[in-house]
Amino acid sequence: TEAALRQAQKMEAVGQLTGGIAHDFNNLLTGVIGSLDLMRRRIAAGRIAEVERYVAAALASANRAAALTHRLLAFSRRQPLAPVPVDANALVGSMEELLRRTIGESIRLEIGAAGDLWHTLCDPHQLESALLNLSINARDAMPDGGTLTVETTNLRIGPGPAARLREVRPGPYVSISVSDTGTGMTPDVIERAFEPFFTTKPIGQGTGLGLSMIYGFARQSEGTVRIRSAPGEGTTVTLLLPRFEGEGEAAEEAAPPAEAPRA
Ligand code: ADP
Repeated sequence: TEAALRQAQKMEAVGQLTGGIAHDFNNLLTGVIGSLDLMRRRIAAGRIAEVERYVAAALASANRAAALTHRLLAFSRRQPLAPVPVDANALVGSMEELLRRTIGESIRLEIGAAGDLWHTLCDPHQLESALLNLSINARDAMPDGGTLTVETTNLRIGPGPAARLREVRPGPYVSISVSDTGTGMTPDVIERAFEPFFTTKPIGQGTGLGLSMIYGFARQSEGTVRIRSAPGEGTTVTLLLPRFEGEGEAAEEAAPPAEAPRA
């Protein structure tokens, strides 16, 4: 949970960093464009000797912009995905204190842990970070209090529309959902919610990175995320993560032969 807290702080830092970088990058780009424009005018006027200094200025700006994006890339690469078998119930249990502190006293926390929950194959730190971020979103949606429910369950997705709709292959999944009794989302907000930097929160409060990072995590784990929400009716965000097919379990679960030998 300490890791989850650090993760959340890192997320906030990423938000400030990216906001700042976008701004700086734009300034540098303006410098490059300005220099190129001056260059073109000098060339048109036949004053070729003066072009050199604008080339130098454009290069200097472009190099600074490159250094800036390198810094951002280095930052984002510090979080490699390390999938291991994870007991989501145990993970949620270990986060209970942190979640309570995060949502405050006006919001009730309910945890519905399915018995015999399958293990899932994912990066536990990213799962923690996802659950913390979903809980922060839920808290923000319930300024006047309410209930936050974290629920786990085994879920078997059959072939056909269900699998296509959820963009995952048919098979056994662990479903972890975070529900709130808050404001809910309009259809157009739901549609854009996974976009990086999309936020309806005031500047400085929302980064718009939470759901997009959660979506990225789920997709990299070969799962997905689903949002069910309507204005005034609260929100449920469900993470579907593939079941970890441990030794012996794959055969016992009668997975389709084509999928059984998946490593
Ligand atoms: P952020 O929380 O920084 O705005 P997110 O990507 O996590 O970024 O969320 C994007 C947007 O989706 C939010 O600004 C909000 O409008 C909406 N949203 C996310 N979770 C919820 C929720 N539980 N209830 C209502 N709206 C939500």
